[in-house]
Amino acid sequence: MKKQFAIIGLGRFGSSMCRELHHMGHEVLAIDHNPKKVEAMEPFSTHTMVLDTTDENNLIRIGIKNFEHVIVAIGENIQASILTVLHLKDLEIPEVWVKAQNSYHHKVLEKIGADRIFHPEEEMGNRIAEFLTSEKVLDYIDLSVDYSIVELLATEKIAGKTLVDLDIRAKYGCTVIAIKQKNKVDVTPDPNETLNKGDILVMIGDKKDLRRFQDGVL
Ligand code: ADP
Repeated sequence: MKKQFAIIGLGRFGSSMCRELHHMGHEVLAIDHNPKKVEAMEPFSTHTMVLDTTDENNLIRIGIKNFEHVIVAIGENIQASILTVLHLKDLEIPEVWVKAQNSYHHKVLEKIGADRIFHPEEEMGNRIAEFLTSEKVLDYIDLSVDYSIVELLATEKIAGKTLVDLDIRAKYGCTVIAIKQKNKVDVTPDPNETLNKGDILVMIGDKKDLRRFQDGVL
């Protein structure tokens, strides 16, 4: 379904969000107070606007109230980010998603009602660290400080075994939620089916348990 998004702040994060959403076929309004940044996004957005969003009247004037989803990607200028979010929540925008610069910024954003808060650099850093430290990890999503979802490559060591043989939940406390083979994804994996080298196990669990499984079994 086609959705309408407004993106405020067209730095590295905002502009890549803009390109991606536009590429996916959504309607995107790209906003920045720097005309050069706005101009650069013209080919990758539906509408653009040069605007200082710390002034609530500017937001009202452009009809921001028509947007259900606004992404605030003002990074460096924390004050501008906070003021913008405050206005957007005052204007009752249902979904305001914000890029946070640090933990203090995050706390304030939470208090003023930001609906989702991102730390893209930190999240990406964690992911890359996971990839760097294990050649078996193909993808990684942080669910919380303790839990994650990982995609692990089945090695020769487990080829020919089944999920029943491996007894993963009892021994390691983690769950296989899907098995990927080439272009096929099986979200209800048969516990009695034998695994092949190169299969991808999508697993959820405590990070320590997942690592124990990786190191001990794969
Ligand atoms: P990133 O780390 O994602 O590159 P930046 O902090 O460099 O983030 O970019 C944030 C963008 O937000 C910049 O392009 C900047 O011009 C824009 N910006 C900053 N303050 C305002 C404001 N008050 N109104 C609109 N855009 C703003």
